Amino acid sequence: MSGDGWAAVRGRATRMAGLKACATWITLAGGVLASVAQPFRAAVAQQNPNAPENFIKITAPVIALTHARAIDGTGAPARADQTIVIRDGSIAAVGPAASVTPPAGATVVDLTGRSVMPGLVMMHEHLYYTTGPGVYGQLGASFSRLYLAGGVTTMRTAGNVNGIMDINLARRIAAGELPGPDIDATAPYVNGPSTFLQMHALKTAEQARRHVAYWNDQGATSVKAYMQISRDALKAAIEEAHRRNMKVTGHLCSVTYGEAADLGIDDLEHGFFAAADFVADKQPDVCPGQARGQQTIAALDENGAPFKALVKKLVDKRVALTSTLTVFETFTRGRPMPPGLDVLTPQLQDAFRRAYDRAQQNPQSVYATLFPKDMALERAFVKAGGLLIAGTDPTGAGGVVPGYSDQRQIELLVDAGFSPLEAIAIGTLNAAKYLGRDARIGSIAIGKQADLVVVAGDPSTTIADVRRVETVFKRGIGFDPAKLIDSVKGQVGIW
Ligand SMILES: [Zn+2]
Repeated sequence: MSGDGWAAVRGRATRMAGLKACATWITLAGGVLASVAQPFRAAVAQQNPNAPENFIKITAPVIALTHARAIDGTGAPARADQTIVIRDGSIAAVGPAASVTPPAGATVVDLTGRSVMPGLVMMHEHLYYTTGPGVYGQLGASFSRLYLAGGVTTMRTAGNVNGIMDINLARRIAAGELPGPDIDATAPYVNGPSTFLQMHALKTAEQARRHVAYWNDQGATSVKAYMQISRDALKAAIEEAHRRNMKVTGHLCSVTYGEAADLGIDDLEHGFFAAADFVADKQPDVCPGQARGQQTIAALDENGAPFKALVKKLVDKRVALTSTLTVFETFTRGRPMPPGLDVLTPQLQDAFRRAYDRAQQNPQSVYATLFPKDMALERAFVKAGGLLIAGTDPTGAGGVVPGYSDQRQIELLVDAGFSPLEAIAIGTLNAAKYLGRDARIGSIAIGKQADLVVVAGDPSTTIADVRRVETVFKRGIGFDPAKLIDSVKGQVGIW
């Protein structure tokens, strides 16, 4: 995705900062000049309320972040007392504060007591949310602000129920017209006939191929297959997507993980929660029901030959796996209330609280064993050399709130047994590698895009500190999470 628009944002925002400073100075100078100050204030007030400029905390041609703890996203140990120099949206220098001097004229930000990590690269995001039974409301305008506020600077929408909005939002953010992460916009789901009101029903391989081609022509940059796809249709979708340099992921059921790997799929969603590979009487091309698959996963031995054979196939064929523990946590008894509910409309808050209460009152739920089991399986996949990436999936019965849940997903990877540094790498550089964009994003290194999150404390030892986001730099522009969140608070569910 081109980010040329962001150079324009940096230019406009720097000029706007100049205007504001000018207006303040004139106001301070006294009433005589009030008639001069007034037009300046009006210019500030009349700006487009949706423009990125409204949410900026810091922007300058050269910024030096000094005395920060740097967690670089590679999994390497944190380094204390570092200086990071940002010039024209990219990282120009990084090193010990004692040896990297801020350039003359740089805006210097002292980050003593804070950590800087790469912006999160999150891979199972959506711009829609469960707003009613079987109904998904399109909330792209508020969600894109929440994702950025939570520290997400690049995301993939792993499935799209509204056609063009994901694509247009990705374009307008790339053009610097709206705040938000860079978006890898997925085409509407590639699925067979199902009961979903907001999905296409692709019956043949030719229909699947045409669907992928059409949506790529409209601007979609990736593909997501779903639970009722046939092997033939999936094969055609993968061939067409690869021909067009797009990657394909899937939340599968009718096709097993092993079959999809043989067909050339690039990624599988939801850890092993969606694997139907171990259902003994599974019929080809038929989803035996998500619940049946999940019962077999809950009972699976991570050291047993069947699971090891599947993992070997995925690793050999370089199929990535996306962990989405956040959505499953909301179904699991005894887990805490998820963060961020207060940004939702009161109706959506109530709806989720009722779902949460139901989960607490269901001791028979498979999730009691399935949730920790999937964590163990994800660890085994990584231990065997698999590429694990992370996302949140704001669906289910609600409660997976963009931005907040991205931080929660990193915490849950630590719950799953990864170290904080490994969890951060999974949520940053691993995903950048999957996207083939690791030369530009995913870690803190000279020449990379200045997509950086400033957090209070030290998430390399206390992972909960990933929630303490103070500033989110996207392409060198520092955004204020509080301003982004306040602009949507209580309204998430409407837009
Ligand atoms: Zn999803």
